Amino acid sequence: MTTDAGRRSASTAIRVPALAFWALLACVSAPTLAAPPLAATTTPRHTRDEETAVIREHHFRRLDTRLATEAAILRQTCRYESEISTPPPPDRVALSFDDGPEPGQTDYILDILARQGISGTFFLIGEKSSAHPELTAKILASGKHTVGNHSWSHPNFHAIPPEQQREEILRYEEPASPGPVKRLFRYPYGNSSCEANELLHARGYRIVGWHIDSCDWAFDRNGSIDAKEAISCGVLAQNRHNYVEHVVSTVRAHRGGIVLMHEIHPNTLARLEEIIVRLKEEGFQFSAIEDPEFLPSLR
Ligand SMILES: [Zn+2]
Repeated sequence: MTTDAGRRSASTAIRVPALAFWALLACVSAPTLAAPPLAATTTPRHTRDEETAVIREHHFRRLDTRLATEAAILRQTCRYESEISTPPPPDRVALSFDDGPEPGQTDYILDILARQGISGTFFLIGEKSSAHPELTAKILASGKHTVGNHSWSHPNFHAIPPEQQREEILRYEEPASPGPVKRLFRYPYGNSSCEANELLHARGYRIVGWHIDSCDWAFDRNGSIDAKEAISCGVLAQNRHNYVEHVVSTVRAHRGGIVLMHEIHPNTLARLEEIIVRLKEEGFQFSAIEDPEFLPSLR
């Protein structure tokens, strides 16, 4: 799948010449991010640092593969379809939070969304949701937010056979997993497959990618992003120490869209409210992913 090259800073950034790459390294430091809202927690099988390393690995593999592989072949194998090329509804933003529920973080996000009077979509990992049913219930309690299927245990769908992919999707729907099953699915690491696409569509799911990858995982505790990751994430040199400005400027460049964030990165989540306020000031309106205006962006 190709990106909307005219507007995607990420797709242009990966072609930045070597000189510009090294120019990024010359950036000076800037103020650090606010302290994380709560203490570090873990995913079922990984610490946050380990999970960040896995996300990083898949991020670079996706870029390398997309650069090295004919678009037609990628299409044929249904790979890497999570970056949405369909333009979003103008000036509309839909926030999505992956990899929860996460004790502390989920409440933190819900409080911000409530204060700002907007809705969000939480793509939950079934295993974690099952371990924290109270958090899933809390997300659903307001009636404003949506819970989507992010698989049972968050595996890489490119590395497991179709039967296991099927199990990962269906097991999430079992009673132990989140309450009412919304037929929205997001692939772990964005790694899609033809077999899973077929199953999901047969079960009435819409597959949800993103217009804007916040790359929240790549900004460290001091609020900075590594030069190589900055290029791969389309972070402009002047925003290498400014996560908020990176997200706001990327949303501006797309004129809105579905934003990918993660529940497991407290440093960047600590800036969530600032991002929402900034986007509101710039005239963006917040919608739920399920709003009909976002339907053309779903698959
Ligand atoms: Zn995920």
